[in-house]
Amino acid sequence: MLDSQESAARERRSTVRVVPPVRPRKLAKVPFVELADGRLQGVVSSGSDIARVYVSSVAAGSRTFSCSTNNNRPCGGLRGAPCKHLQALVAEAVLQYGKERVARYLRVEAGPDDDLVRLLDGGQESAQAAVVFSRFLRHLSYLELPDTTEPVAEMHWFPAMGTP
Ligand SMILES: [Zn+2]
Repeated sequence: MLDSQESAARERRSTVRVVPPVRPRKLAKVPFVELADGRLQGVVSSGSDIARVYVSSVAAGSRTFSCSTNNNRPCGGLRGAPCKHLQALVAEAVLQYGKERVARYLRVEAGPDDDLVRLLDGGQESAQAAVVFSRFLRHLSYLELPDTTEPVAEMHWFPAMGTP
């Protein structure tokens, strides 16, 4: 999974040098992942449609999982087992947090050779995608702030955190 992602990324980079990019910016496969609210949750872009994203999540403890579009349409790939979006989400979480931390958070007993996705045996559940998706949008708005030492305008709402 990771290897194919990596080689896809490498391919994309090497293509860019030769051919001008068609789209100005390609969304990362997993633009948002977090361990929050007792869940591993995040946003995974659709492999086929650039405009569509999936919100995938796994509950800690129960190991139940869910996946739907940001408009709350159920993911067609989710049939009793984690779909490719959940697989991508878990892979990204392992990259960002390390496997041990993700396993501990989800309360999954995972040995060094265990694939975390295979240990998600709680079955599927429906979860509200909207909450995660709005967190993602908020996360994006912070990412897109220009790199500047100027005080962040939004922070003026908090008197104690305004101009130093
Ligand atoms: Zn899915």
